[in-house]
Amino acid sequence: MPPVTSLGRNGDRRRLAGNGRATSAAGHVFNCSLVLNFFTLAYPKEWTRVDFWGASEGATSARATDDLIPIRSEDQKRGSEARNNVEEPIRCGWAGNELAMRYHDEEWGVPLHDDRAIFEFIVLEGAQAGLSWDTILRKRERYREVFDHFDPETVARYDEAKVAQLLADPGIIRNKMKINAAIQNARAFLAVRDVFGTFDAYIWRFVDGQPIVNSWRTLAEIPARTAESDALSADLRKRGFSFVGSTICYAHMQATGMVNDHLVDCFRYAEVRGA
Ligand SMILES: [Zn+2]
Repeated sequence: MPPVTSLGRNGDRRRLAGNGRATSAAGHVFNCSLVLNFFTLAYPKEWTRVDFWGASEGATSARATDDLIPIRSEDQKRGSEARNNVEEPIRCGWAGNELAMRYHDEEWGVPLHDDRAIFEFIVLEGAQAGLSWDTILRKRERYREVFDHFDPETVARYDEAKVAQLLADPGIIRNKMKINAAIQNARAFLAVRDVFGTFDAYIWRFVDGQPIVNSWRTLAEIPARTAESDALSADLRKRGFSFVGSTICYAHMQATGMVNDHLVDCFRYAEVRGA
């Protein structure tokens, strides 16, 4: 699926990281009046408006209106009120609401070596296909409940009755292909584990065991796929996985810290390197 785009804070066209994981533009970052004052002084008026409202009529000609996302969600407004007078750290602009911010701040990009947690991302990323990551984040708790906390042994044993039960649950994405893929992927996951000892040992081989550390300055620079994600995708398919296209694989690599795609000025950029 194509990456989701929106206009960035600087008016540039953003490609949102994480397989279109964001649905709203940044605006919360500069809520502090001191910071706003700084931008009022330091940047042209348009840019200040961009910072405050989260979407821009643009400082450049590269603008689009068809994919602009509503300016400040209720979540953001509530968040702004709650953080009144508290200076927000600089974070990647795709984290545009409370849930996404928490995910960005606590999980995204942290090197992950726990098989169960890796499997959780595989299921959720497959479920996301064609939808926003925010939708998945909102449903994540329900997914944990009905998918036995993403225990791959248990999921691998799901039968038709369980599939019917899942398809009737409005708390998750009710797509039969995606649900069947989760079960098939659990079986393939266990097969990989039989060969490599852990799935962790298998998947990290695609980056030679160490995170790839990038140094992006804008979201627009972040690729949707790379040679490493292409290789991972091809190998997973060979092993019987589905919903593992290269873009989904790259989103997985970003989420699980196989690649550090936090922008260099994001407060998590350095933090995840020390994780
Ligand atoms: Zn970040």
